[in-house]
Order: sequence, then structure tokens, then C-alpha cells
Amino acid sequence: GNRTFTMIKPGAVRKNYEGAILKMINDAGFKIRAMKLTRMSTTQAGAFYEVHKGKPFYDNLVKFMSSGPIVAAILEKENAIEDFRKLIGATNPENAAEGTVRKLFACSVTENAVHGADSDENATREADFFFSTFERF
Ligand code: ATP
Repeated sequence: GNRTFTMIKPGAVRKNYEGAILKMINDAGFKIRAMKLTRMSTTQAGAFYEVHKGKPFYDNLVKFMSSGPIVAAILEKENAIEDFRKLIGATNPENAAEGTVRKLFACSVTENAVHGADSDENATREADFFFSTFERF
């Protein structure tokens, strides 16, 4: 797909990494089509990560993701989903390739700096979760 959805997670925003991460995103050729600094309630974070409900890391993930402000954004580029996941690197920063966002800015598998949608369907679902039609370009 030509669009993906990302969040800069609370840990990375707390450390003021959002500017550096957004620069990497722009330098990799992605255009920002929507963006906001916002915060999810535990209920919203629980709904966002509904597919992981019941997994051992779910409660911690929901707690972490609702612990402070995040930057949510819709990004556009040819082959956006796949190229963005390449740019951010493996879920666990220990396995993330050199030069990826997670290698540079993540501190653990839960606090892994950024989220990237894994399919067109999820990118749309996740973008609709945060943005109205008037907030996207
Ligand atoms: P994201 O969806 O955030 O881009 P991902 O697709 O690489 O990450 P998922 O498997 O969808 O990873 O997991 C969603 C999030 O849940 C991860 O980004 C991570 O923060 C957390 N997570 C996943 N697996 C684990 C785990 N084994 N232990 C702790 N946290 C985990």
C-alpha cells in the first residue's frame, strides 16, 4: 500500500526523540499526511492492541502505551508498509539492524520507540482510530 500508520511511543517522546525520528522518516522518503501529539487512555490503548489481548505482554503494553503522549501519523510513500517496517527494524531492538529507528532509539521489546502498521487493512483501521477526514491530506 502507499500509506502506513505510525506512532512514536511514549518512551521515545519522553526522551525528546520525536524530532530525530521524524527526520529519519522524512529522509527515507515518507510524506506526512496527518500528524498529532495525543495520549491514549488505557481503554483506547486496550482497543488499539485488541489483537494481542490474552498474550502475556498485553497488560504491560497497554499500561506503557497509555503512560504519556505519543505522536500518531499517517505516512505516504510507494510500498509504505513494507518500507516503513524495514526502516524501523525488528520488534525486539536486540534483533534490529544497524541504522534502524529501533536500533537507535528503542530500549526494550515493549518500549520499542515506534509502531508501524503491518498491513493495508490495519493501517486504515489504525489511521481511522486517530484521525477524522478533516485531519488528513
Ligand atoms: P508494532 O505493531 O508496534 O509495529 P510489531 O508489529 O513489530 O510492532 P507486534 O507483534 O504487533 O509487533 O506487537 C505489538 C507490540 O507489542 C510491539 O511493538 C511491542 O511493543 C509489544 N510486544 C510484542 N511482543 C512482545 C513481547 N514478546 N514482549 C513484550 N512486548 C512485546
